[in-house]
Amino acid sequence: MSLQQAVILAGGQGTRLRERLGDRPKPLIDVAGVPLLERQISLLKRYGYQHILILVNYKAEQIRQFCQNHNNWGLHIECIDDGEPSGTAGAVLNILDKLHTDFLVVYGDTMLEVDLARFAATHAAHPQSAGTIFLHPNDHPHDSDLVELDSNNFVTAFHPYPHPADTYLPNLVNAALYILRREALNPWRTKQPQGVFDFGKHLFPKMVAARQKLYGYNSFEYIKDCGTPARLDKITFDFQSGKIERMSLKHKQPTIFIDRDGTLNHEVGHLNNPDKLELFEGVAEAIRKLNQANYRTCLITNQPVIARGECTLAELKNIHNKLETLLGQKGAFLDRIYFCPHHPDKGFAGEVAALKINCQCRKPAIGMIQQAKQELNANLPNSWLIGDTTTDLETAHRAGIRSILVQTGHAGRDGKYQRPPTFTAPTFPQAVNFILNNTPPTPK
Ligand SMILES: [Zn+2]
Repeated sequence: MSLQQAVILAGGQGTRLRERLGDRPKPLIDVAGVPLLERQISLLKRYGYQHILILVNYKAEQIRQFCQNHNNWGLHIECIDDGEPSGTAGAVLNILDKLHTDFLVVYGDTMLEVDLARFAATHAAHPQSAGTIFLHPNDHPHDSDLVELDSNNFVTAFHPYPHPADTYLPNLVNAALYILRREALNPWRTKQPQGVFDFGKHLFPKMVAARQKLYGYNSFEYIKDCGTPARLDKITFDFQSGKIERMSLKHKQPTIFIDRDGTLNHEVGHLNNPDKLELFEGVAEAIRKLNQANYRTCLITNQPVIARGECTLAELKNIHNKLETLLGQKGAFLDRIYFCPHHPDKGFAGEVAALKINCQCRKPAIGMIQQAKQELNANLPNSWLIGDTTTDLETAHRAGIRSILVQTGHAGRDGKYQRPPTFTAPTFPQAVNFILNNTPPTPK
């Protein structure tokens, strides 16, 4: 299935951008010489979208005129003024009759460079879902609305900011890009309250409460809103410096694969409780540097405690939520957290029989790295694995990536494999400094 129809929500006033906008409406804000709306339409056109509905409100006539002046870029474009502002979901529910069975929703104030074909293919692969929403980790999860997924990536909860101090939440934020099924929205037309009705704050939580399935699509690709002068300047800088282009999935991504216990946090034997997770000094700051240098960051950890019944999946999730919370407090994030829950040897009391297998993901097998190659388009020859055991070194070798052995945790003295590291470093932060000082993130 390829999608043909997109809805652009272009009714915003852009009050905070007034000085930059002059008398223009927000979707026509200039980003490095081209109005944002035109950049969005070019992206849609590149991915084969033929029908675009632009939901206008504030200064509608200027937007209509702008499209006419460009002969609608050769597409079927219709500007619809729906009168009273009714929120993002309200605006879409009001025009449901005009929509295809599946359609894309784009917010008119976002700069984005997303592989829309891949996004649509993921949506199509989950026909039981009411929609697919684009999510990403950000560098300030503590003051963001966060989304929680189950192990199949369906949304289980929305957690609006502010968050309770005593809970750990995953770092996943609604990036404001959706593919929705018309049929799934239909029942909400009559249940829509008067006034503003938004997707993120109102409709999606109601859909989850009504047991409708929303698939969470987690990607590092670039989506940012330009709501304030500072954000607009950041987007312009990211565009001009080539960052937005480099974050496209069509480019292979240099990736730092990171072991967990003994590398990021103190090795404490069987870590089965978030209270026992304690990061080494400087770890969050180091991951933040990798984020800013545009490396992908990917945790890969063996967690045989799951197979042995010493830690439940819920407990492990909570541990990783704490990890993401601690990183997020310092402006750092991981693009992916992969874990192997398996263990090959049977015979432990309380073990989970189904997980006692010889799998493809338990390091030194390279299943988790192959998954990153697929999901993140990881560029293995330009990637690194940082870990504290010879198992990590053997994993890196088998995957064809360079390794750095840190002198924390096991410090390579576990004796399992005779595999030297490419380099050694005293600690994780020093390993990161070594990488950043000696190798450019995107070697040509
Ligand atoms: Zn496994």
